[in-house]
Amino acid sequence: MAKNAFIFDTNKCVGCMACVVACTIENGTTTPLNWRTVNSHNYIKHPTLPVFHYSLACNHCDDAPCITNCPALAYSRDKDTGAIIHNAEACIGCTYCTWACPYDAPKFNEQTKIVEKCNFCIDRISDNRKPACVAACPVGALEYGANEEVDLKKHLTPGFVDAGIGPSIQLVPLRKEHEMPTIENIDAPVIDNEKAASYLPKLKTKVELSKEWTLVLFSLAAAGLIAWQAAAITSQVAISPILFVLLALIAIALTTIHVGKKFRIWRFILNVKGSWLSREIFSFSAFFGLGALSLFMKDNLLGMGNLLSFVDSKTVGIAAIVFGAFTLVSIDMVYKFFIRADNLKLHSAMAWITAPFLFAWLANIPLLIGLLTLLKGGLYIYRKTTFCNNKVKHHPTLSAVRLLTLTLPFILFIVMPQTSLWILLPTLFVGEVIDRSEFYHESEVRTPQGELRELFYHN
Ligand code: SF4
Ligand code: SF4
Ligand code: SF4
Repeated sequence: MAKNAFIFDTNKCVGCMACVVACTIENGTTTPLNWRTVNSHNYIKHPTLPVFHYSLACNHCDDAPCITNCPALAYSRDKDTGAIIHNAEACIGCTYCTWACPYDAPKFNEQTKIVEKCNFCIDRISDNRKPACVAACPVGALEYGANEEVDLKKHLTPGFVDAGIGPSIQLVPLRKEHEMPTIENIDAPVIDNEKAASYLPKLKTKVELSKEWTLVLFSLAAAGLIAWQAAAITSQVAISPILFVLLALIAIALTTIHVGKKFRIWRFILNVKGSWLSREIFSFSAFFGLGALSLFMKDNLLGMGNLLSFVDSKTVGIAAIVFGAFTLVSIDMVYKFFIRADNLKLHSAMAWITAPFLFAWLANIPLLIGLLTLLKGGLYIYRKTTFCNNKVKHHPTLSAVRLLTLTLPFILFIVMPQTSLWILLPTLFVGEVIDRSEFYHESEVRTPQGELRELFYHN
């Protein structure tokens, strides 16, 4: 079926950035935050390497993950033009869409604290005019029109991400004899990829531990609280209602540090139907509410012992655990866009492994402690020993500390069973912080620039 699309010809693009400038002027954006980007291979212009460019903005995809995954329902599709429109008033600035979009289209604006992106120049195209970027291209490399769907797999520009989401862009095939655009310079010195890569500036990563540390602590706090609540119900482990509420509130506060618009955080739960982030926040809130209620009922705090005549505190606690279990699944699913440096699907710090691990310790179940220590340790060692690339810098000392914090409590537990859990727990916690931090440190999401680097330099 014909649809409105960008048509891009890499053979013609000279990388002049006129499209970028035109977009900036048309939409009043402030550089360096450009809605359109020119992705260049060999922009250091080394004479022995092929040079080519492709210009990219939002591709107004058929199956747009930004729409599906935005927890605040800030994206919508314009029925007439097919444009995916971002609603600035609804955005909470959580940046989750910047992970979900493989084309690096939504950009976080540090001034406004929300994201913004290309709107397909909807006013212009509704008025039968070309988008500003298209109108400005001096060599006709960027066009716009109603086009039959093309098989992107057959016409991929090197580095273009084929995520199977129906981007509204038609890529003109490269010249017949070329797998990629090349320039010939037989007199130039030979340079290998490794050398060329050393000239490149550091690739800007989207997942940085310095930005995600609050998520490290939130996911651990959530796993710990769910484990604690479960241990209290199944093994009569003492649990202080006040401490539980305090820790849960701190966990929630941690998530708000991450969002740009703190007064809009209630919008987090609007997309429970489609977004794992919404589901995570919703189910954790339900876990927190029910968990606190069951503890207050149990201890008859604030006269809540007989608040609900038809249900007892234990049943409310079990309902809390059900929401807790769903929280753990949601936490792990939120990161489905991550590409791990080791290509492994299982990580020792995943929430669904960590919570049962902590539960086993709190409930004092030796067999489960042993099994999950083995699982976590095995996954950790396997991950560290199977890395066969240089994408992530490794810290052997840190790895040794992590393994020590996993094994030492277990050895103490076996040889000195009377050792207090309150001595072992801080050690376990330090180990979990290291492991969860590495989870972010060793992950990235797909971007056109990342694909180009991967394709040509494998770094
Ligand atoms: S279509 Fe309009 S908003 Fe989108 S990149 Fe082009 S000029 Fe910018
Ligand atoms: S390019 Fe990215 S932001 Fe645009 S519609 Fe597709 S997924 Fe959404
Ligand atoms: S609320 Fe989050 S996911 Fe939705 S548009 Fe804003 S930053 Fe993107």
